[in-house]
Amino acid sequence: MKVAKFGGSSLASAQQVQKVVNIIQDDSDRRFVVVSAPGKRSKDDIKVTDLLIAFHDAIVQKKEYEELLQTIFQRYEEIGSFFQVDANILAQIRQHLRALAENADPSTPYFYDRVLASGEDNNARLIAGVLKSQGISARYVSPADLGMIVSEEPKNAQILPEAYPNLHRWHDAEDILVIPGFFGITKTGEVCTFSRGGSDITGAIVAAGVKADLYENFTDVDGIFVANPGYVHNPVLIKELTYREMRELAYSGFGVFHEEALMPSFKAHIPVVIKNTNNPSSPGTIITNEHSTNEQPVVGIASDEGFSMIYISKYLMNREVGFTLRVLKIFQEFNLNYEHMPSGIDDISIIIRARQLNPELEEELLRRIAYEIDPDELRITHDLSMVVVVGEGMKHRVGITADSTAALARKQINLEMINQGSSEVSIMFGIHKEQEKLAIRTLYYTFFD
Ligand code: ASP
Repeated sequence: MKVAKFGGSSLASAQQVQKVVNIIQDDSDRRFVVVSAPGKRSKDDIKVTDLLIAFHDAIVQKKEYEELLQTIFQRYEEIGSFFQVDANILAQIRQHLRALAENADPSTPYFYDRVLASGEDNNARLIAGVLKSQGISARYVSPADLGMIVSEEPKNAQILPEAYPNLHRWHDAEDILVIPGFFGITKTGEVCTFSRGGSDITGAIVAAGVKADLYENFTDVDGIFVANPGYVHNPVLIKELTYREMRELAYSGFGVFHEEALMPSFKAHIPVVIKNTNNPSSPGTIITNEHSTNEQPVVGIASDEGFSMIYISKYLMNREVGFTLRVLKIFQEFNLNYEHMPSGIDDISIIIRARQLNPELEEELLRRIAYEIDPDELRITHDLSMVVVVGEGMKHRVGITADSTAALARKQINLEMINQGSSEVSIMFGIHKEQEKLAIRTLYYTFFD
């Protein structure tokens, strides 16, 4: 049994929705369908969720909202009339939008959530109607009926554990259930959304709740590429990725997912496959708990810019009990979060996101370290990028670091830092940001060409 989630671009127009219908018809295991709100039809188009933000603001500021209401409604109407869905569904959608504006209660902390969630809610009603119009037995089911209980945190709901047994009760539902993504319901009955992009989270929760065999996440790309296509021409697709690898890649700026979106399916050991609505026969990228083979030591290469490194060296540092603690205490006092901390016998580097610093803070920090630690050498380097080579299979293969550094050296790329996490899932290189693209390309051709 599969849970299929369709993102906004897969539901942006009647033509896209037709592809979704075909996908659902194609495989009778697709029993649960989670939908986003309609997304962009073209590059310059506006997502329904963004239109709803403007709608919300107009209501709250008591400005004219009628035109926005019509624009939003038309997005559903365009799809609904193409499939000749039951007229009541469109009437209901229009009425919902109007009720949001007319019975607005902007004083509740959930008003924003209610308006934004309507994007997915109305779309789930519409898509259920579309499926019915095509002779598929499907029906809309609301997060409240499903028992998708979430915490009381407007715009940032977390799923509560009791939601899972509630969802499991729907396991044997006869119809295909169409579920709106992006929000749940609090214990007091309020609509509360996850963070933006949260329909991915809904899909993962539903998959975990109904104990699906697979969570299919349909989007507009064939899967996850081994490296950023903006840096490498036509990179290959990752066939299989573990959750841990994905987290490493996502952390380093691999913008596929919301890092935590897949947590529920990860915990429930349910594989996720990223597939393309526009090319459903492509196998996509599978994200699992364990690799099926150890053939591929490196699965992906990612990078992110905007790091600074504070280098501290002190002779006989290794014999001083509590040295690192004293250094980190200073960072704590300055409320600075560190990302990495590679160390040698007499030196340590603390790598932080540069956006946390400003010139005064930096000066104060260095002065404080100099005073408290009395290092032999203390310096800060800015404009660093972190390039990360990721693959759980590295554990079983000798020489990945050597191959990487040799290749980078051949291109005259200076390494400011090397860090291999003890889990051996990734190796990280700190380099100057001007060399980031070149480094990514070099590593790509080392491991994938
Ligand atoms: N529509 C929501 C957003 O744009 C949620 C989603 O599409 O996942 O953030």
